[in-house]
Formats: sequence, structure tokens, C-alpha cells
Amino acid sequence: MTGGLLIRGATVVAMDPLGSVARRDIIVGEDGRIAALFAPGTGPASFSGRTLDADGRVVVPGLIQAHLHLCQTLFRGMAEVLPLLRWLRERIWPLEAAHDADSIAASARLSVAELLLGGTTAVLDMGTVHHTDALLAAVAEGGIRYVGGKAMMDSGEGVPPGLLEDTAASLRESDRLAERWHGAAAGRIRYAYCPRFVLTCTPELMRAVADRSRSGDLVVHTHASEQREEGELVRWQFGAPNIQFLASLGLAGPRTVLAHCVWPDPHEPGELARLGTNVVHCPSCNLKLSSGIAPITEYVDNGVNVALGADGAASNNLLDAWEELRLAGLLARLRDGSGAPSARQLFEMATLRGARALGLEDQIGSVEVGKWADLAIVDLRTPHATGPQDIYSQLVFATRASDVRTVLVGGRVVVEERVLQTLNEADTLRDAEQQWRRVAERAGLEQSASLAAARA
Ligand SMILES: [Zn+2]
Repeated sequence: MTGGLLIRGATVVAMDPLGSVARRDIIVGEDGRIAALFAPGTGPASFSGRTLDADGRVVVPGLIQAHLHLCQTLFRGMAEVLPLLRWLRERIWPLEAAHDADSIAASARLSVAELLLGGTTAVLDMGTVHHTDALLAAVAEGGIRYVGGKAMMDSGEGVPPGLLEDTAASLRESDRLAERWHGAAAGRIRYAYCPRFVLTCTPELMRAVADRSRSGDLVVHTHASEQREEGELVRWQFGAPNIQFLASLGLAGPRTVLAHCVWPDPHEPGELARLGTNVVHCPSCNLKLSSGIAPITEYVDNGVNVALGADGAASNNLLDAWEELRLAGLLARLRDGSGAPSARQLFEMATLRGARALGLEDQIGSVEVGKWADLAIVDLRTPHATGPQDIYSQLVFATRASDVRTVLVGGRVVVEERVLQTLNEADTLRDAEQQWRRVAERAGLEQSASLAAARA
């Protein structure tokens, strides 16, 4: 980074308050933040740092995914034809329980490789119950910006013994991890408390997490109202709709991030907006698990902050922010016609609104002086994207992850001309294949493991 970096010649889609879209040169300071933006030819006469030529390309803020499970990437495709609760009990929880430090690190590295190559520079992630130190060490090595933490599970039908925790022990381990990792990797890692969802957490645990979030200004991330059956069970067990029940435990407000919210009660969108609670829309996963279509137009019209996420590769099977953007737009059109969010509003969900959900609105999410240089350089001069389109429409509906050429996180070039700079891609893939076979064997899924071996 000595001398900083100059990105020259690109059209910058800034996502700033003015909605600027213009040719701009960008100077990234040695501190990894955006130091200056200027029209081509109007900048300093000489520049001592490195220059990246982006002539003809488009620079966007690095995309932000506000709901992922990096620990599940090793289980890609393990969600064929099962409803949510059976999928969790019969597939995902036994596999998560079979993780060890090496397999979770392999899963995290595979995730980071896919995310960075596709232009996602920041994530909100829910880990599994154990081996979170190994997950976070791999994330630190991969160079992505990360908010997240271990999954907390202290009750629930069908939770395997390997994942079920004592309430005090779950809180103690989360506190230890927050102490060790919050602010690590030059500030790229921030800890978040992650109670899994109402049906696997006691109200006592949820209340304790809400207290910690308030006193430590930390994000709390959980799932809510993903499927109808889940919502009915919550109402039956606790006598209240899911989102309202979480709020009654203190899990509401700008530091609370709820994944899914596909089936709100009629009054809940207004309540989410009033309290400032964040919602993460995960359209691919909602389709694949037959969950439904989240009412994002209603959320946006009410003023709820809506972000996007791919959820897990086990139920997606991609971690591709562009795919989620396009699907979010198409589904909203199907559901709500011309009243659906515009392409620009959708692109905000993948950038500024994602940043707000992560509690980093003043740090990332737009290309503005003083923010971290978390940027994706995209080449849209392709047969599938060329044409007289509005730039936001082009980004939301016609851009593919493979159009991302170069990516920066905190001013560091982490992908250059589609080559990952922080991890060795071939080693990452080889390690993932090996570790998947070991996890599947430990989980008793020998048949799947031998299928994977036959493929390898
Ligand atoms: Zn999830």
C-alpha cells in the first residue's frame, strides 16, 4: 500500500446522497480509505503510488451480504426437496455437529474465495456452535470484511447433542469470542451475537443477548418467520407472532438483524420500521426451501431497512450477491407489479442498506471520501450486459459475478483480474473436497461422501 493507489478512468456508481454516477478517478490512501475523487484530468499531476487502469469499467461499492452461513458452504447442495425444519434436523445440524477446526476453516476459505471473486466485500455471518476461532482465523486470512459469530442453541426439538448448549456456557463462549475477535484483523472483523432462532433458544438466552448488544453496541443476528410452520410453532409455544416475540425479549432496533421475515403478521412491518430493526431478504434460499416470497415492497414502503443475503450454500447453492439482487427484483415485480422497488432501491439493498444492517453505514456501502476503499471493479462490456440501459438496471438485472474483475477491501487488492490474491484458489478447492469427505463420514453420510469421492 506504500504510496496509496490510483484507480483511473472508471465510471463510478457512488451510492452517495446525490446518487452520483460519473467518470471519476479514485485515490485510495495508505490507510486503506478513499482519499479523493476527481474528474479525469483534474487530479494531481503526478502520483507516486500504484495505478490501476479501469478505463471503460464500472466501480461500485463492494457488495454486502447481510445473512450467510460460511460454515455450510462445504455442504453445498444438501437441501434437495426437504422443508426447513426437516432439512435442519436431518441434514444441516448433524453436518454442523460433525465439523472440526480443519473442516470449518476449509468451509470458510471456500466461502471467502467465492464471495470475493463475485465482488462481495463484507458479510454478516452466523457460524455454527463450535470451532468459531478456526472459522474467524480463516476469515481473517481471506481478507474479507466480516461481522458475525458463533451460533447459539440452548434448546429445541431435534438439536443433536453435539450442538445443544447450556445457556450459561453459550453466553460465556460468545463473550470470550467477542473479547478476542471484535476489532481483529485491522478492524475488519466485528463480533455479533447469533442466537439461531426462537425454536432453538430459551427466552433467557435471548434476553441476555439483547442486554449485551445494548451495552456493547454489538449486532445481534437471528432468523425470524422464515416458514409458515415455524411461525405457527412460535405462536403455539410462546403465544405471540415471531417478530413481535423477539421484540418483547429486547431483540429489536438498529443493532438487530433478522434474516428472512417472509411471513410477518399484518402489524409487524410497521413495528420493524418504528423500531429500526433490520430485515435481510434471501430470495434464492426462500425459493429453494419453498418458504415463500418476503413482502419487501411492503417493508420498503413502511421504511424498514432491507438488506440482501445468499443465506447458506447448502440451501442456495451459490453465495452470489448479483443473483440475489436479480431475484429480489424479479420476485418483487411478480408480487407487487410496478409498485415494486426500483433497480436503484434494489442496488441500495446490496450496498448502503447492507452497510446499515452491519452497523457500518458510516464506514462502507458507498464510494465517498473517508470511507474504507471496499470496491468492486466490474466490466460490463459483455454480450449479456451491453445495451442502452439505465446503469442500476444493468447492475441489478444483467450483471454476473464473473463480470467482477478486481476487488479491494480496505484498500487492499484482494482480487486482481479475477485472480484471488489472499488465498490460493486451487489449494482452497482441494482442501474443501477433502474436508467435505471427512465431515460427511463423521456425520454418518457415507453414501454422500462416496458420491463426492467418485466425482473428485
Ligand atoms: Zn440462515
